[in-house]
Amino acid sequence: MKPSRIYLSPPHMSGKEQEYIRQAFDTNWIAPLGPNVDAFEKEFAEKVGSPHALALSSGTAGIHLALLLAGVQAGDEVLVSTLTFSASANPVVYLGAKPVFIDSEYRSWNMDPELFEQTLRRKASEGRLPKAAVVVHLYGQSADLDPILEACRRYDVALIEDAAESLGATYKGRHTGTFGLFGVYSFNGNKIITSSGGGMIVSADADLIAHARKLATQAREPVPHYEHKEIGYNYRMSNILAGIGRAQLQVLDERVEARRANFRFYYEALSDIPGIDFMPEAEWGRANRWLTCLTIDEALFGADREAVRLALEEVNIESRPVWKPMHLQPVYASCEAVGGEIAEDLFLRGLCLPSGSSLTEDDLERVVTVIRKCYRSSSVSVSLPRDANK
Ligand SMILES: *Cc1c(COP(=O)(O)O)cnc(C)c1O
Repeated sequence: MKPSRIYLSPPHMSGKEQEYIRQAFDTNWIAPLGPNVDAFEKEFAEKVGSPHALALSSGTAGIHLALLLAGVQAGDEVLVSTLTFSASANPVVYLGAKPVFIDSEYRSWNMDPELFEQTLRRKASEGRLPKAAVVVHLYGQSADLDPILEACRRYDVALIEDAAESLGATYKGRHTGTFGLFGVYSFNGNKIITSSGGGMIVSADADLIAHARKLATQAREPVPHYEHKEIGYNYRMSNILAGIGRAQLQVLDERVEARRANFRFYYEALSDIPGIDFMPEAEWGRANRWLTCLTIDEALFGADREAVRLALEEVNIESRPVWKPMHLQPVYASCEAVGGEIAEDLFLRGLCLPSGSSLTEDDLERVVTVIRKCYRSSSVSVSLPRDANK
């Protein structure tokens, strides 16, 4: 019999979710929108320290609206971190614009601020500055925002923070997502908190959030009949899901601490092994350690990332390679990329370990034992099936 499955990042309910759902049922406020949505927006804005928030059906919808309201149009370019999930870049294409992918730096695995600035300088000299940039806070760690923001101000480029993975993380003491024109968060099932599905955008600009709210509600004009002057979207969050989100938000701090404790456990148990390096925590911020990620140097460790992943899978433990960079994705093959070697290296050597906030010490011990066994001795047998397939 197989041991029980350890998932990468499963949902972790607080126990209070059903209270908010029941309130919605008791008042028959199933839809549209409703008190849970209003309260979730207010409570979320307070939590991250942003004046205005808008709850949406997904983080992807949030990035789409943020780009639209930043003025991105067909034919425009948008600079995007290459090491990310495809949802950071896809909305650029929804608008008919073109992503230009920027490489990472090793300090945080996030967008290299120097490369970003150089690219803007070059684009300015070519007379075709991008309208916006999407900077990702990968695996729950902030990018180095100050130099990125400075470059954005100098060249008048709107900054959108993809904070889908970094809720609860800070940059110089302030929450990620509150620095750019817009910050976008996700409550997808695998994120640090979940509403089962949903997203939030925040901005310091009340008019922008009001406009986003209208566009997300089918761009209905404020008159009794249905009047439309712009193209709208059906992007709002349901009152039921907002109820789940409210209960989850209350335990966010605990979830961050639990995930940081996972990281510490893994670090203490594995960092002595030659060839294993953990994703660093840059000095400018405090990460939420949404996922614990490490890199494996095959020459020193005696097995590669894929051999370790398969060894974990063998005993029913889910792990995942680090995001495959966007500039290596077939769908984005024709897009410009600036650098890319660092992101590629992190993808080839990087592995995300089970990181849920409900993991037990036994679970963590199981993961650690498998990885330690892969070191040198058993690596050969682990790699064999792959070679046999060739
Ligand atoms: C999850 C995620 C998104 C998308 O959020 P959804 O709510 O799933 O649409 C965007 N960017 C990054 C980096 C993500 O991890």
